[in-house]
Amino acid sequence: MARKFTESKLVVASHNKGKVREIRDLLAPFGVEVLSSNDLKLSEPVEDGDSFIANAEIKSKTASHESALVALADDSGLVVPSLDGAPGIHSARYAYNPWKEERDFNYAMGKLNLELGKKDRSAYFACALSLAWPDGHVETFEGQVHGKLVWPIRGENGFGYDPMFVADGYEQTFGEMNADEKHAISHRANAFKKLIDACFKS
Ligand code: IMP
Repeated sequence: MARKFTESKLVVASHNKGKVREIRDLLAPFGVEVLSSNDLKLSEPVEDGDSFIANAEIKSKTASHESALVALADDSGLVVPSLDGAPGIHSARYAYNPWKEERDFNYAMGKLNLELGKKDRSAYFACALSLAWPDGHVETFEGQVHGKLVWPIRGENGFGYDPMFVADGYEQTFGEMNADEKHAISHRANAFKKLIDACFKS
């Protein structure tokens, strides 16, 4: 049995304002006050785990320890089994374009397409969500959405690798879907449903 969240406040272990806003909206029905790492000036730990779950737990445990509050963290990325799981936990770093000296997902998707060549194009997005308590207890859930990588890329919506990914049973890429369509089936939505069912519903 997972531990239930019974507190009134929670800190989201992220400096990304978009992510904090999304989580605040998702937790609104449960009357939870959501603070961010920025609000509390928390540090950004080194994410040196070897899985999405390990990295989410590093972030949630560090934030909970520093703030003495329950902390929620996520870690996500794109996994391509025919490329031995790349870019995986390195999905953000894989997008670093050395010529532009910045993150560039058009560059990352082109690089992925070249590496794939004629290999199997099956891929999945994964999202780990970790809730940590100041006493060291942690509950972590992983959601996935399976599909394939297409070329050329299509669509302007979403972010990251969305224009290259088509979920199983769909025709449109995540970059062509509107936000509601993507959120109905995404890895993040899937992980959130598991977290909410286990820790937030009575
Ligand atoms: P992080 O979890 O914020 O470290 O993000 C990891 C990286 O995974 C992001 O920079 C994106 O490149 C990729 N990623 C995670 N989720 C998605 C998604 O829903 N669509 C596209 N790319 C994603």
